[in-house]
Amino acid sequence: MEFTRKANIHYLEPELLRGANISVQGFTTRHEGVSRAPYNSLNLGLNTFDSPHSVQGNRSLLARSFGAKAEKFVMVSQCHGSDILVIDEPNPDYAHFHKLECDGIITNQPRVMIAVGVADCVPLLLLDPVKRVVAVLHAGWKGSAANIAAKGVESLVKLFGSDRSRILAAIGPAIGPCCYEVDKPVCDAFSANGVDWAESASESGAGKWKLDLAGLNRAQLLDSGLSNENIESADTCVSCDHDRFFSYRRDGGETGRQAGFIMLS
Ligand SMILES: [Zn+2]
Repeated sequence: MEFTRKANIHYLEPELLRGANISVQGFTTRHEGVSRAPYNSLNLGLNTFDSPHSVQGNRSLLARSFGAKAEKFVMVSQCHGSDILVIDEPNPDYAHFHKLECDGIITNQPRVMIAVGVADCVPLLLLDPVKRVVAVLHAGWKGSAANIAAKGVESLVKLFGSDRSRILAAIGPAIGPCCYEVDKPVCDAFSANGVDWAESASESGAGKWKLDLAGLNRAQLLDSGLSNENIESADTCVSCDHDRFFSYRRDGGETGRQAGFIMLS
């Protein structure tokens, strides 16, 4: 992935998905936008103490920069679960979507920009270039324990007839194992759901582990039937890169949200 710019948006662009040439997508940085400290400046999360007016302005800026209509920019009310909103009709009630408690969005509709907000959690993008359907998923530790990555893939297969081996995935910037220590209750939650977390963790003290949450999600995508060469990772720690990214842990909870976004052309 490489940092690039479109109109007023600085973002990290996954080359694999761009290569399919049927969508625009990426992972935003905190640059540009109108929010003030500590949400400076492209804060896309309404679940913060930032001014909602600023957040809406930033969302419009993101949509407009890629030629999307502001009313067709969809983010949901994320709750660290694994429910996924499916938009498969041309004229849905867009105004109603932002209140839905979900952690993923799938659509086969062109010109609808779907996004998830994150600040440490893993943003995932999926693209089936054959069936022309896209997904965004929010995978924090709870979503990863619920295997939202696999649920996203299953939804593409069941609802849209996707062939797993053709699905492309991009794993965005998230908190890296360098900065993400978890304790036993978190690991127990993974184990309780049959998630093999140990492969993505290293013990850092008594009852403490450094966890590679992005690596764990890559493993879940592979287990779901995706090909290794069809998965691209940012391999960027948002906590280490203060200049470009928000990090909830690093900033003590008072911070903004960057986004993973994708839109079919
Ligand atoms: Zn780090």
